[in-house]
Amino acid sequence: MTSKGFATPKRFATSKKLVIPKSHPRYESLMLRNLIVEGMEKGIVHITGLIAHGRGEAFDYLIGEKTQLFADEAAKVSAAYLKIAKKPVISVNGNTAILAGKEIVKLAEEIDAKIEVNLFHRSEGRIRKIVELLEKEGGKNILGLEGDALIQGIEHDRAICSYEGIYSGDVILVPLEDGDRCEALKKMGKVVLTVDLNPLSRTARNADVTIVDNVTRAIPNIRKHYTEIKKPEEIIKKWNNRKNLQNALDFICKRLKDFFHC
Ligand code: ATP
Ligand code: MG
Repeated sequence: MTSKGFATPKRFATSKKLVIPKSHPRYESLMLRNLIVEGMEKGIVHITGLIAHGRGEAFDYLIGEKTQLFADEAAKVSAAYLKIAKKPVISVNGNTAILAGKEIVKLAEEIDAKIEVNLFHRSEGRIRKIVELLEKEGGKNILGLEGDALIQGIEHDRAICSYEGIYSGDVILVPLEDGDRCEALKKMGKVVLTVDLNPLSRTARNADVTIVDNVTRAIPNIRKHYTEIKKPEEIIKKWNNRKNLQNALDFICKRLKDFFHC
């Protein structure tokens, strides 16, 4: 505890010293958690990103920490939308950058999409750091710092976006997004594709396509589908996002019901 009563997260941060043996049954999950903590220490992840990650972890546990059929289907439909997009944009926040930055850069290159760093808790310093991280992974012309347009219907800094990116894009892939910004993007006429482990979130319910999967698995899976699909319009025509979310919830319910087989 500090003299003010509360220990700062920095004092508790042990990520650099933390050694997790590969044999640990929760190795992958702990490694991701560690990445998020490191990201916060580096000023890439906002402190509230720790909470968002914890919520995500809980839902990942419920779906078995694997890409399930409902997630794979949604990744395929996302790839189909990205295939017919005229101006695809991938919106990246701190958590997404630290967990899947490399995969985001690969996907953007493959599908010829713009990457925009767009933060819920906007700060120029953090945007700059995320841009640098993505550039280190090979990203080029990353948008975000200019902040020269506004998402309609949203107040304060959370509305700021890039004219060349989200503002003029037609299909926006926005993992780990907040509910009211997702709604505002829809009202602007965009096709919104999201990755959200919580099938009940407002974002999950409002997006055109919700991939209920960890962003670390979903992004490479979209890229895989993108290279394989042939008739994107047909895939899109058959899509029902609400039905797929119900499939995710049914899967979780069944898994819980059968858990101890008694
Ligand atoms: P909403 O605003 O959509 O109702 P929320 O306020 O509950 O959602 P936010 O903090 O706005 O949650 O968004 C973060 C979302 O990202 C959460 O639903 C969380 O489950 C999800 N999430 C966190 N980490 C990951 C991850 N690694 N992969 C996929 N989804 C994740
Ligand atoms: Mg929210």
